[in-house]
Amino acid sequence: MILPVVALRSLVVLPKMVLHFDINRKKTIEAVHCSMMQKQKVFLTMQKDEREEIPGLEDLYSYGVIANIKQLMRLPNQTYRVLVEGECRAKLLGLTQEDPFLEGEILPSPAAQTEYSEIEKEAMLRSLKEWCRSFAATEPNFGDTAMRSLQVIQTLEEYLDQLMIRFPSEPLQKQKFLNLDSTQMQFSMLAQLLQRETEIGQVKLDLQEKLKAQMEKNQREYMLREQIKVIRKELGEEDVDSEIDRLLEKAEALNAPQEVKDTVRRETERLRSLQHGQAESGVIRNYIDTLLALPWNNCSEDNSDIAHAARILNEDHYGMEKIKERILEYLAVRAFSPDSQGSILCLAGPPGTGKTSIAQSVARALGKKYVRVCLGGVRDEAEIRGHRRTYIGSMPGRIAAGLKQAGTSNPLMLLDEIDKVGTDARGDTSSALLEVLDPEQNRRFADHYIELPMDLSRVLFIATANNVSAIPRPLLDRMELIEVDSYTENEKFHIGKDYLLPKQKKQNGLSGRQLSITDEALRRIIHHYTREAGVRMLERKLADICRKAARRLLEDSERKEIHVTEKNLTDFLGKEKVHFDPVNEKDDIGVVRGLAWTSVGGDTLEIEVNVMPGSGKIQLTGQMGDVMKESAQTGLSYIRSIAEDYSVESSYFEQHDIHIHIPEGAVPKDGPSAGITMATGMLSAITEHKVRADLAMTGEVTLRGRVLPIGGLKEKLLAAKMAGIHHVLVPAKNEPDVDELSKEITDGLDITYVSRMGEVIEQAFAEN
Ligand code: ADP
Repeated sequence: MILPVVALRSLVVLPKMVLHFDINRKKTIEAVHCSMMQKQKVFLTMQKDEREEIPGLEDLYSYGVIANIKQLMRLPNQTYRVLVEGECRAKLLGLTQEDPFLEGEILPSPAAQTEYSEIEKEAMLRSLKEWCRSFAATEPNFGDTAMRSLQVIQTLEEYLDQLMIRFPSEPLQKQKFLNLDSTQMQFSMLAQLLQRETEIGQVKLDLQEKLKAQMEKNQREYMLREQIKVIRKELGEEDVDSEIDRLLEKAEALNAPQEVKDTVRRETERLRSLQHGQAESGVIRNYIDTLLALPWNNCSEDNSDIAHAARILNEDHYGMEKIKERILEYLAVRAFSPDSQGSILCLAGPPGTGKTSIAQSVARALGKKYVRVCLGGVRDEAEIRGHRRTYIGSMPGRIAAGLKQAGTSNPLMLLDEIDKVGTDARGDTSSALLEVLDPEQNRRFADHYIELPMDLSRVLFIATANNVSAIPRPLLDRMELIEVDSYTENEKFHIGKDYLLPKQKKQNGLSGRQLSITDEALRRIIHHYTREAGVRMLERKLADICRKAARRLLEDSERKEIHVTEKNLTDFLGKEKVHFDPVNEKDDIGVVRGLAWTSVGGDTLEIEVNVMPGSGKIQLTGQMGDVMKESAQTGLSYIRSIAEDYSVESSYFEQHDIHIHIPEGAVPKDGPSAGITMATGMLSAITEHKVRADLAMTGEVTLRGRVLPIGGLKEKLLAAKMAGIHHVLVPAKNEPDVDELSKEITDGLDITYVSRMGEVIEQAFAEN
C-alpha cells in the first residue's frame, strides 16, 4: 500500500486508538490533505528525534499504524487539529516520495499469532486481567473506566492492544510494543511492565503512607504546641519561652570556661522540655541561676601599692603596730610574686579586737571585693562543699556562695571563727576546708552542688579565730598565725575617742559639734560599763549614747549641742554595770586569787578550797577542763610530799576530803596555769594559815614543785590590774614576755618572779 506518511513527535498511535493531535509542519499538512482526498488513510509513525524538523526515512521508526482520519479542523496560525483512529499495525518498507510530503510503501503486519491453544490464551488473558487489577489497586490514576472497559474484552490480542493504549507509559515504551512481532512477546512485555509498575506503585504507596503519617504527626504537634501556648497565656505563663531564650543569651555572654557554658545550655534545654510548675523545673532553674551568678573568670584589678595599703590600715585602726607590719610584709611578698601561693593569714585573739575589721581594711587597701564566710558552728561538711543536687532544697556550699556574693573570682574571703568548725558524723569539715586552702587542690575545687570545678587559687583567704588551740592541727599548719592581743584601757580610750565615736556619730547622723563626750566620761564608760578584751561593747555603748543624743536634739529644738560628762553619764547609760571583784576584804584561809586566760580575754579567778573529814577524796567544781583537773591532782601530790614540813600527819590525807571550787563557772576554763594557785589554796586550807588578799598568781606546778611558764600573760596582767590587784606572782621563765609588754600595763604592778613552789609559799602567806 502506498500511503502518505506523517511523522509524529513524542506520540505513538496504537491500533484501535482514537485521539487527536495538532499539526503545523508543512509536509504533514500536505500529507493529511492528500490523504483526505483519497481514502482518508495515513501511515502514522514516531520520529526518533523529536527535534528533527524535516525527518527522512532513517529518522523514523519503521513500525507504526495505518490510521483513518476522522476529522480535520482548521485552527488559527496555520494549524490543524486531526482526529484519527488507529486501524492496524504496519511497517514502513521505504519512502516513495519526500516532496511535497512523505509518502511510503506500507505493509500492514499484525503481530504474528503464536500457536496457543484457546485454554492457554484464556489463561494468559486472565492472568493479565488479574495483574491489571492489582496494578490498578496501587495506581489511583489508573481510572475505574479504563478498568471496566478492559474487563469486558474477551480476546487476548485485543486486550493486549487496549491495555497498552491505556497503560500510563512513555511513548518510547509504546513504540517498543509496536515493534514487537508476536503476541507472545507483547504478552511478556506487558506482564513484566505490569508487575514492575505494581511493585513500584506498592513502594510508592508505602512511601506516601509514611510521609502522610509523619506530616500528620508534625501537624498534630504543631497544633498541640499552639494550644499549650494559648493555655500558658491564659495562665499567665506565656513568657517561659522568652525567658529560656534570655537564659541562653546570658550563657553565651558568660565569661566562663567552655564546660560551664555547655552545662548552662544543656540545663536550659532540659528546662524547656519540662512543664512549667513541675518541681524539677524549679531545681534546674535555681541551678542555672547559680551558675550564671558565679564570677568564673571575672577578676578585679588589684592595687599592689604598699604605701597606699599602709595608709589605709592606719586610717582605719589605732595601734596594732605589729599586726599591721606583719600584714604589710605579707602583702609585699604577694605583690612580688603574685602566683606564689603563700600561706594563709590567721588572725587570732579575743572578740572585738578588730580582726574582722582589719581584714576588711586589707580588702579596701588592695581594691578587692570583701566577703565574710562565717564558719562558727559549721558541723556538716556539706555546708562547706554544698549538697548534691539530688537533695531537696540543696544549695551550694558557703565557699561557692561567698564567691557568688563577691561577684569576682579574686575577692578577699574572710573565714571567720575557723576555730569553731566541728566534725561529726556528717563528714569531716576540716578536711573540706583543707581542700579549700590547699593551693595544690583549690584550682579545681569541687562543690557538690555546682558539679563543675571552680578556681579558688586567686582568692585571698584570711582566717580569724578566738582560740588557736581549738583549730584542727592540719589546718593550723597551713596558716600563718598573727596574734591579736586584748587592748589596754588606754588603747581602748584612744580607739573610742578617735575611731569609734566619730564612726558612730556619722552612722547616727550627728555632726561634730552636736555631741561631745569628755575624756573622763569616756574612761568611765570603759571602766564601769564594759568588761571585755576588745572594744565591741564600748562601741555599742557609744552607739547608745549617739542614739539618745539624736533623740534629745530632735525632741528639744532649742538644744543645739549635747555634752556627755562623768556627771550626766548615767542619764545616757543607766547605772554602772561592771563591778570588779574587789580585792579580798581581808586575808583568808583557803581563798587564793588566780589569773586566767579564756577565749574572750583575761580574768581573775577566786579559788576556794575546803577540807572536811572524809576518806581522802578530792572534789573539783566550777566548769573545769581536764587539764585543770589533772593540774589540781599534781598540786595535791606535791603538797602531800611537803606536808611533814608543816607538821601535818600523813594519815591526815586518808581521813579528810578536799574540795576545790572556782566561782563564776559560766566561762569554761582549762589549762595548767592555775596549778600554783590551787596548790597554795590547798596548803592554806590544810594548815589553816591565811593567804594574802592583795595578791594574784599564775603558773603551772610540777610534782617536784617547780613553777613552769604560762601563756596569755598580757591578758592576765590586764585582768589583775582591772581588779585592783598590785602584787602578782609570775613564773620566772615568763620574764622576757613581761619585758615586751608596754609600760602602760606593767606600771603600778609589783611583779615577783618565782621558779619554785617554795618561793610561792613564802610570798603568799600573810604571816611567816
Ligand atoms: P573581731 O573580729 O576581732 O571580733 P571586730 O573587727 O568586729 O572584732 O571589731 C569590733 C569593732 O571594733 C569594729 O567596729 C572595729 O572597727 C573596732 N575596732 C577594733 N579594733 C580597732 C582599732 N585598733 N582601731 C579602730 N577600731 C577598732
